[in-house]
Amino acid sequence: MKIPIVDITGQHASIRDDLVLALESVFEHGQFVMGREVTEFEQAFAKLCNTKFTVGLNSGLDALILALKALDIGPGDEVITAPNSYIASASAIAHVGARPVFVDVSDDLNLDPALLEDAISDRTKAILPVHLTGRPAEMRAITNIAHAHGLAVIEDAAQAVAAEYHGQPVGGFGTIGCFSLHPLKTLNACGDAGVITTNDPEIDARVRRLRNHGLADRDRCLEWGHNSRLDSIQAAILLIKLKHLDEWTGRRRQNARFYGSALRGLPGLTLPKEPAHLKAVFHTYVIQTDRREALLKAFDRAAIDAAVHYPIPIHLQPAAAYLGYGPGDFPNAEKQAGTILSLPVHHGLAERHLTCVVDAIKQVHSE
Ligand SMILES: *Cc1c(COP(=O)(O)O)cnc(C)c1O
Repeated sequence: MKIPIVDITGQHASIRDDLVLALESVFEHGQFVMGREVTEFEQAFAKLCNTKFTVGLNSGLDALILALKALDIGPGDEVITAPNSYIASASAIAHVGARPVFVDVSDDLNLDPALLEDAISDRTKAILPVHLTGRPAEMRAITNIAHAHGLAVIEDAAQAVAAEYHGQPVGGFGTIGCFSLHPLKTLNACGDAGVITTNDPEIDARVRRLRNHGLADRDRCLEWGHNSRLDSIQAAILLIKLKHLDEWTGRRRQNARFYGSALRGLPGLTLPKEPAHLKAVFHTYVIQTDRREALLKAFDRAAIDAAVHYPIPIHLQPAAAYLGYGPGDFPNAEKQAGTILSLPVHHGLAERHLTCVVDAIKQVHSE
């Protein structure tokens, strides 16, 4: 019995007939670009996030890049983000010509609001918090600081579709929310896809223009744009999957609770916490272990897949060398990079799989 960290084939087997019907309907109308499914999906996603607008895009990275461009952030500007995120949070900032400025994270793996003010300079234009692992960052504290300094907030919610903070879904706390719908995310297309969410009609209009070559209408180009549109085929697939998101997220949360009670109190092991004001969606279930090598060996013997998200903090990536950061600059992010491990938590797991993972961990974390 192999226990995979993701099971996309299994996910699709359960909804295959519906997916095929949806694809057939796109083939019939033939509007592969900007077909009616795109609008339908945008409306459904805006409802999910409780925001006025959603713009369908081709990836999470482009969602971040167009969000920054829609706020006129560019050369000479600084944007604050987390050093332990997926590289795209920082690369998007660099792509628009601005400078990524990192701030260390707390035990929750998210930006530490207490460290934010020290990182704000007169060049800072925005804070880009990441809801890493599907756990919302401390948005009240972050947006308070942003407002006090006149900064925009761009939520990187790529891992956090349907996560909630004080009862409100992520994506509507900042000026713009950015999501990835990549095959490995919890709401996933069959290929690349992304969206932005916003309550600001001007940002909505600007991102719509930027995703479509900067065109105001068929013939008039107002600014150099991108080709970052969401495909009709992906929107059709996403509409089907959206119907199952609640159930799938519920199963992930149930799996997380199973680990939470089965693994509580083991020496050398820290489990993700979920304080009452949050609803985490567990894109990943990340433990912190002082015995990662031994644990990976035990998982290997038991045919359990596990992964490290992410082993190299962004400020220590070769691509970031020009920013001048070095080891020791963000002690929490760096320490966590050496201890974090993502366990399988996807909705297709049965209790026997979870028990198998728990048993392997108990072998290593028993004394
Ligand atoms: C996946 C991810 C992205 C990038 O999304 P793509 O769709 O792969 O471009 C950005 N930020 C975070 C936190 C992610 O997990």
